[in-house]
Amino acid sequence: MKEKSQLLNIPIPFYDESLKGLIIRACMLNKIKFPLMYKFANLRSQNEPINVNDINETRLEKLGEILNIKADLLSSLTFHNAFKKCDIKIKNSIVYMGMFNGQTKICPKCLDECGYHRKLWDCKIYCVCPFHRCMLVENCQKCYRSIYTHRSNILKCECGFMYSEASVKTCEHEEVIEFSMMLHNKLFDQSRFIISKLYCLDHNLEFAQAIYLVMHFVKRISQILYKRNINFSYNSDFNNLHQIILKVICVFIDLPNSLHVLLDEIYQQPFKKKYPLHTSDLHFTVIRNLLMPEFKFILDPYQQYIDKVASKFDSM
Ligand SMILES: [Zn+2]
Ligand SMILES: [Zn+2]
Repeated sequence: MKEKSQLLNIPIPFYDESLKGLIIRACMLNKIKFPLMYKFANLRSQNEPINVNDINETRLEKLGEILNIKADLLSSLTFHNAFKKCDIKIKNSIVYMGMFNGQTKICPKCLDECGYHRKLWDCKIYCVCPFHRCMLVENCQKCYRSIYTHRSNILKCECGFMYSEASVKTCEHEEVIEFSMMLHNKLFDQSRFIISKLYCLDHNLEFAQAIYLVMHFVKRISQILYKRNINFSYNSDFNNLHQIILKVICVFIDLPNSLHVLLDEIYQQPFKKKYPLHTSDLHFTVIRNLLMPEFKFILDPYQQYIDKVASKFDSM
């Protein structure tokens, strides 16, 4: 480092790069160990790296000085702008529940072609690469270690395995690919991908709202239909993540019918016959979480269905 604590070699950020990834590239370019950089830039809390996707301005300024990159540009590599206009409940939900900090996912093909860490990979609900139409990868395929956001080399595992050599699985579901395309368009203010199936989500919601809505549905569906709390990781023993995401996304394709088909399935669960959904805590959680004007397009058909079922129960 030079005087005034500035790096000699400055990495040029890519439009959709993650700040974490840029810090790793800066360390690699300047042959600095990244824990040192986090320490130096005061990016730690209780000795752990903080989640720089949600970094405050003071820390950003300091990091900007070290990297010799304007704080505004660094801020655009976080999710800060996407959260600026959204409800605080939505923001907190996504930061604490929907973002990776330790482990992450990557697209081996993107890493091979571009050599940087795309910001959207840190979003737990974003599972498919819209450029290569393949599933993102969570583990090193040689030593099976998780892939970490705070890693010393952007391109390879500590065991030496090049992530670009990982085999990838093509995603068979156009709806899930389109969901990734839609998030990419929204986050980067682009109309790079054409969205047709998910028109309803695309039309009604901002980036953060779309993540929040799908994430909450995924959580509820896994609780009701699979009796599990999902942690949004392929690494967990509960590896239905992709199926549940697909199921949830399909709910938005043909409203209200698609939602009613899902609710029919829920009502066919034996325990729901005894403890009807509309009297459960879960029902009130759904209502509470969706009580914002933006979610009216989904809350209204939900309420219609519940009213119909409730009146049936009442007349029994
Ligand atoms: Zn890719
Ligand atoms: Zn490895």
